[in-house]
Amino acid sequence: MFENLSERLSGVFDRLTKQGALSDDDVKTALREVRVALLEADVSLPVARDFIAKVQEKATGQAVTKSVTPGQQVVKIVHDALVDTLKGEGDPGDLKIDTPPAPILMVGLQGSGKTTTTAKLAKRLKERDGKRVLMASLDVNRPAAMEQLQILGRQIGVDTLPIVKGEDPVAIAKRAKTQAAMGGYDVYFLDTAGRLQIDAELIQQAADVRDVVKPRETLLVVDGLTGQVAVEVAQEFDDKIGVSGVVLTRMDGDGRGGAALSMRAVTGKPIRFVGLGEKMEALETFEPERIAGRILGMGDIVALVEKAQETIEAEQAERMMRRFQKGQFNMNDLKMQLEQMLKMGGMEGMMGMMPGMGKMQKQMDAAGFDDSILRRQIAMINSMTKKERANPALLQASRKKRIAKGSGLEVSELNKLIKQHRQMADMMKKMGKMGKGGMLKQAMK
Ligand code: GDP
Repeated sequence: MFENLSERLSGVFDRLTKQGALSDDDVKTALREVRVALLEADVSLPVARDFIAKVQEKATGQAVTKSVTPGQQVVKIVHDALVDTLKGEGDPGDLKIDTPPAPILMVGLQGSGKTTTTAKLAKRLKERDGKRVLMASLDVNRPAAMEQLQILGRQIGVDTLPIVKGEDPVAIAKRAKTQAAMGGYDVYFLDTAGRLQIDAELIQQAADVRDVVKPRETLLVVDGLTGQVAVEVAQEFDDKIGVSGVVLTRMDGDGRGGAALSMRAVTGKPIRFVGLGEKMEALETFEPERIAGRILGMGDIVALVEKAQETIEAEQAERMMRRFQKGQFNMNDLKMQLEQMLKMGGMEGMMGMMPGMGKMQKQMDAAGFDDSILRRQIAMINSMTKKERANPALLQASRKKRIAKGSGLEVSELNKLIKQHRQMADMMKKMGKMGKGGMLKQAMK
């Protein structure tokens, strides 16, 4: 399925690549194909639709980077949007196990890889983080499952709770809790029973156990090969029990990118780990870039475009720095500066990076300065002639009126921009005088 999607996109982008510039129609055509491809990869319709809307917005109005083709540029935009949709907050591999013994509840359908994943995670915590781990199987209906966990435990050198026949899941959970506390364990895993389908009893059991141990993490294990079904399962488990993250197994096969994408978009739950095989080592922290690259199958192009963009930004910064050092700062420089600010997270991000700018930022905050102002200012500079940009001193009343009209804004706003330019030009001159490697260099980083 991954192949299908990536092949399909290749076809689309090949066609684009042959054209000189990226028109609105190009973007639309390309995205229509991307959408079909996503649907074929088992991404649900609303998710695909949202995704396309997001990409469309990003692609429109984005300047095509020199030295890459428009097709390559679109790949990068699609890739970034995929990463955006896939990624959650924080490090997905960071399990909440700060209060020992920390209970981790493992839930999922039978055959999803729940027991295997429990042991993989236990091994990881033991070996990577030096944690003392206990595992307990609550699958009272399947003695074989309980034994399987015990065997895996022996294999990886992790303790399992002794099996007591006739005990119910809640009693086992309580025993695990006590044993974990008495035995000085940092973490204990509860591998709950699985069924082939979700049923009321299964959910009730998991909920009862949850209420007894109050897990720090409830990880849902789903088979990544089951696509849309996996998403439905995740939604159901989350509604009824509440999950803190998802583990997608069998991503070593020709798994569908769609499962990961829909899972994240529909349930809002972060994907935390992916299973990549039957071996105990075959578990990785979820990396959105990796899955996105796999969905697209175009990692090289993404890297190329990133490189090209970085180079161009670095060149721009260099050029600007040289100009400032000479005390030159015209409207073109200001525009470039404003655009950089937008890119670097707006005023706050930019000012935060420039030492000694705290005061100026406060003034700007007080004046209600935000990103929409940056955009308006860029529009005003765009309405200036080449001469005016190079020499802002030319900006007298009649010219101001024309520029304000051209950008659909008030002359008063333009006056503010001109004043700001003057202040910044003064400041740049001072900073320039402080020499190379000074504040400016830091600010440009
Ligand atoms: P459970 O019923 O949910 O506990 O599932 P198991 O842990 O018993 O796993 C069922 C089968 O799937 C076993 O044969 C596992 O070795 C296999 N399995 C689990 N995770 C993965 C994975 O990430 N990739 C592959 N290829 N097989 C896996």
